[in-house]
Amino acid sequence: MSVDLDWASLGFGYVKTPFRYVSNFKDGKWDEGGLTADDMILMTECAGVLQYSQSVFEGLKAYTTADGRIVTFRPDLNAERMVESAKRLEMPPFPVERFLDAVDKVVAANRDYVPPYGSGATLYIRPYMFGSSAVIGVKPAKEYQFRMFVTPVGPYFKGGAKPITIRVSDFDRAAPRGTGHIKAGLNYAMSLHAIVDAHEKGFDENMYLDPATRTYVEETGGANFLFITKDKKVVTPKSDSILPSITRRSLCYVAEKYLGLTVEHRPVKLEEVKDFAECGLCGTAAVISPVGKIVDHGKEICFPAGMQKMGEVTQELYDTLTGIQMGRIAPPEGWIREIK
Ligand SMILES: *Cc1c(COP(=O)(O)O)cnc(C)c1O
Repeated sequence: MSVDLDWASLGFGYVKTPFRYVSNFKDGKWDEGGLTADDMILMTECAGVLQYSQSVFEGLKAYTTADGRIVTFRPDLNAERMVESAKRLEMPPFPVERFLDAVDKVVAANRDYVPPYGSGATLYIRPYMFGSSAVIGVKPAKEYQFRMFVTPVGPYFKGGAKPITIRVSDFDRAAPRGTGHIKAGLNYAMSLHAIVDAHEKGFDENMYLDPATRTYVEETGGANFLFITKDKKVVTPKSDSILPSITRRSLCYVAEKYLGLTVEHRPVKLEEVKDFAECGLCGTAAVISPVGKIVDHGKEICFPAGMQKMGEVTQELYDTLTGIQMGRIAPPEGWIREIK
């Protein structure tokens, strides 16, 4: 029985649910871990995460399918990506199998908060880990905590997916050979000023360029770009400092195997963006948000699909991937993990 929430009017905010998963790393190993009702964290004032931002996170969703099952989408890829993120920040990786077990347990324990099929709402799952022991000289913490909570989130697009307007940012998101390719809170801390500034100036998002030459497209603060050429090829930017989006990788697979489109994953010059027919942002939150306009210091790039609706190919990609997630379309092997 689901709880009585107004699913349609939920936003993307934190709603406390009854259970979360916690495991602690101490004396060189992860403890057994398990569910808890306690949503508070008690730690030393000198914790590594508080002093030097030693933390990484993930984001994925649970859905109710058309036939009433509760499923998660490719959680193994989130588990693997979190291992890579942890390694880059000198944190002990949380084992993939244990991550998957934690997803199963947290979602099952909070199953009343998984929004019903057709509501447009979903259950957002937030795994994260951080240095919890005291650190004052700059070095990795000795102890860590892994946590995973869930929170129901509303439909990303209320009243249809309206294309957004983004600007080419004068700020950079990630340095070459830095940490842009891992999901670390630090990448977001440094993007906050740029996004607040963008919003103040009337833009929905920032397009970040490669900081070395500022001639190639990287991504936005939290989503990868996907472009469609006039002859319906799918093009996604390639760079070592882009976060490898699971949604983007899944859309490229769907484009090739379900829709028979050609996919190119390659460096994309800012200069060639004006020649694309469609543009979208890919990430777990929205799957794809259509981009209608990109503003580069007063110069406007307007995509032919316009500002009223998604482009035709973007829409097909969106419908196919969400169809797979919601159980209306047969998934590729291993993409859907059912929660019992
Ligand atoms: C999480 C994230 C994405 C989207 O990744 P998904 O796995 O598709 O949710 C894209 N860019 C950045 C910087 C991110 O942190």
